[in-house]
Amino acid sequence: MTAAELPQTFAEQRAAYRAFMGEHVYPNERALYDDDDAVISELRGKAKAAGLWAPHLPPEAGGSGHGFLEYAHLNEEIGRSSHAQLVFNCQAPDAGNGEILHLFGTPEQKERFLEPLVEGTARSFFSMTEPEVSGADPTGLRTRAVLDGDEWVIDGDKWFSSGAEGAAFGIVMAVTEPDAEPHRRMSQILVPADAAGIAITPVPVLGHRGRGWTTHCEVFYRGYALEREAFGGPLAEKQTVQNWIADSAAEIQACRLMTLDAAHKIDQGDEARVEISLIKFYAARVLNDVIDRAVQTHGGLGLTDRSPLSVMYTQARSARIYDGPDEVHRMVVSRRILKAFADGESWRFS
Ligand SMILES: Cc1cc2nc3c(=O)[nH]c(=O)nc-3n(C[C@H](O)[C@H](O)[C@H](O)COP(=O)(O)OP(=O)(O)OC[C@H]3O[C@@H](n4cnc5c(N)ncnc54)[C@H](O)[C@@H]3O)c2cc1C
Repeated sequence: MTAAELPQTFAEQRAAYRAFMGEHVYPNERALYDDDDAVISELRGKAKAAGLWAPHLPPEAGGSGHGFLEYAHLNEEIGRSSHAQLVFNCQAPDAGNGEILHLFGTPEQKERFLEPLVEGTARSFFSMTEPEVSGADPTGLRTRAVLDGDEWVIDGDKWFSSGAEGAAFGIVMAVTEPDAEPHRRMSQILVPADAAGIAITPVPVLGHRGRGWTTHCEVFYRGYALEREAFGGPLAEKQTVQNWIADSAAEIQACRLMTLDAAHKIDQGDEARVEISLIKFYAARVLNDVIDRAVQTHGGLGLTDRSPLSVMYTQARSARIYDGPDEVHRMVVSRRILKAFADGESWRFS
């Protein structure tokens, strides 16, 4: 279904979001990005007053939405600014947590957790990924929860719990039935952030500033003792990862040989213009590609300051510019090759 097939009232709602974005969000993007609490609070108040609030949830849950299709179209307006979801109170992970609570929460849970979330007076986090096991394969999660009387006692270490700093509560994925089939072993447990035994620490992540809702946190749940593979085997056995290692080895070796060749020619008195330009744009690309694959192979860890990769990644990008932009070196190479043909010769490397 296209936007044109949605009810006329939707067209008006979308136009209202577009107008709000133009009038209030774009002019304040810098302040939003800088987490200016006064501006955020003012814009959220205006969005709520305008009825542009929590569009991911239906009115009976306190939102202004009417289904995912309309919400998807609305996000074409909201998604034009990275911080607009916060303004309309539909930012991750609160949006997903709100949907879970709306669909599956008890009346008491809705009153205690969902209502303040939708009202915008509380934030939440979703705590699934763990540092010691593959987040891509949640069947391996180790965090355990055991019923003790009428309380769940949780033990385990999580990280990448986005927005946990300053949040009021979290939804935690924990193994509650260790003997069940892999996809039936886990439960989602609502945990107030101030519950005993919980410690929350932000972890710096590439390109994400760490304060409040923009944090990605380690969360330790300490009740009592506990005991990386992805999808049943080491990552080194995955063909994709093997291909990345082989491609990286070939490309690094190509850069080495190109560099040795250019160095040799320079020693022979050759300016080696083409050879040098080839190295500058090709090796810079290889540098970026190899580090990018390494980050990908390390998953979330590669984006944090717990590995050197995030710094390497940010620094590598400059290599495509600082010794002359790629485009200029490509121009040098192609001009010389084309000139050789224009002079009636063919191009060959000596
Ligand atoms: C910005 C950000 C916010 C996040 N927010 C949250 C959050 O709020 N709550 C939460 O619980 N988690 C969150 N996460 C964690 C995220 O869900 C995990 O990083 C993701 O699931 C990958 O898990 P991992 O980092 O453990 O990587 P791993 O599972 O260890 O995977 C590492 C790499 O191995 C390769 N790989 C894995 N499986 C296979 C396979 N089957 N075949 C081939 N290759 C494979 C891939 O290249 C992958 O990138 C967040 C992550 C980021 C980066």
